[in-house]
Amino acid sequence: MKLANSSTTAVSLVEASLKRIEETKDWHIFTFVDKESALKKAKEIDAKIKNGEPVGRLAGVPYALKANFLSKNRPADASARILTEFISPINATVVEKLDQEDAICVGCANMDAFAHGSSTENSYYGPTKNSVDKTRVAGGSSGGSAVAVALDCVQFATGSDTGGSIRQPAAFNGVYGIKPTYGATSRYGVVAMGSSFDCIGFIAKTAPDLDLLMSIAAGQDPKDQTTLPDFYGTSDTKLGKKAVGYIKEFMDSSALDPEIKSALESKISILKAKGYNVVELSMPALEYALPTYYIIQPAEVASNLSRYDGIRYGFRTKELNSSGKNSLDLLYEDTRDEGFMRENKRRIMIGNFVLSSGFYDAYFLKAAKARTLIINEFNKAFEQVDAILSPVSPNPAFKIGEKVNDPVSMYLEDVMSVTANLAGLPAVAFPTGTSKAGLPLGLQLMGPRRSDKNLINLAKEIAS
Ligand code: GLN
Repeated sequence: MKLANSSTTAVSLVEASLKRIEETKDWHIFTFVDKESALKKAKEIDAKIKNGEPVGRLAGVPYALKANFLSKNRPADASARILTEFISPINATVVEKLDQEDAICVGCANMDAFAHGSSTENSYYGPTKNSVDKTRVAGGSSGGSAVAVALDCVQFATGSDTGGSIRQPAAFNGVYGIKPTYGATSRYGVVAMGSSFDCIGFIAKTAPDLDLLMSIAAGQDPKDQTTLPDFYGTSDTKLGKKAVGYIKEFMDSSALDPEIKSALESKISILKAKGYNVVELSMPALEYALPTYYIIQPAEVASNLSRYDGIRYGFRTKELNSSGKNSLDLLYEDTRDEGFMRENKRRIMIGNFVLSSGFYDAYFLKAAKARTLIINEFNKAFEQVDAILSPVSPNPAFKIGEKVNDPVSMYLEDVMSVTANLAGLPAVAFPTGTSKAGLPLGLQLMGPRRSDKNLINLAKEIAS
């Protein structure tokens, strides 16, 4: 991604990106294109290069911002109606860091509203389509980000991953995605979903690109108290045990698509041929991962979404004036009713239910205990192996409309990806060829906390 000393210019890179965005309009990738500011910044960078002034490591590289990232003077609506009309007064820390390296944001990428979903069909703006088959979903919630990269609109895109939202769309579109160790990158300035799960990461075409982006984005941030002191640049890049595990329960799952299973088996053979010790791991507690996630996460969602009230941000119901209603409660109720998508409301209701007195012990507390069991099981596994190879989701991209009205089948998409978020582990999705029908297939590598760099290197070694 180096521009200085090359024959191209930042302006020509941005122009090529904008042209590609125009050509791929049908996929419905961008919710906002920032043509003027992108070109202005490109000209400034070209002038700096011309004058021999130093430029950043991402000088002139066009990128897409997932729509839940706050970026000064741009809309930051998380593809949710309730945040339309909200223009961000601040930059997210990650945006600030990309800016300092002279990357150029060309626009905001579509997503499931508030990142609730696995297909990008829950967007207020309508779905983004899969990069290779327009009748299929892009994956979610970072569907716009993944398709923007896959179709060469941008060189990389930001993403957030609460239960798989970077990795699953990356897998559905044949690109790479990293969900870092919880706390490796700052969450400051990204619309919160489930605060104990949310991780800020990237989608890109190659593993070295992810490596560069992580070396820029990782590090402690006084504005996010959950960030860790920077370990990325100094972390070990050797796999101490030279052992990789796979999860028996995932491999034997009847839900697992046979083509993903055979992709996994072929990677196991490659690992063995490269001298890795491949270990079968039995992890029975992972059976509880999905229900645990779908109790704790909505509880956190319900708290995080309570701030959207029609007073502080963006959209407010118009009903008030016309109907003569004047109660503050009605203002809240109508704004929230009109502003949230069905899936957002479902999570608010589940979240408040599992937190309510009388049900807290039976649901939330039990789920918190199950989360500890899952963390312990991973800790045990990492006594034996450096990394775990697993599917990202049980199947390749499904048809638009196939699951959107059946929340449970949509939630089952996340059965393999939420495990990393429950335990705060890093995970890297990488492409591994295509199915017979031509759909991209992806797998993921999960590792112990702080092993992000090792996972990127291993993904590079074994990807197709
Ligand atoms: N698909 C998962 C969910 O809907 C994960 C979403 C995400 O990672 N933001 O909760």
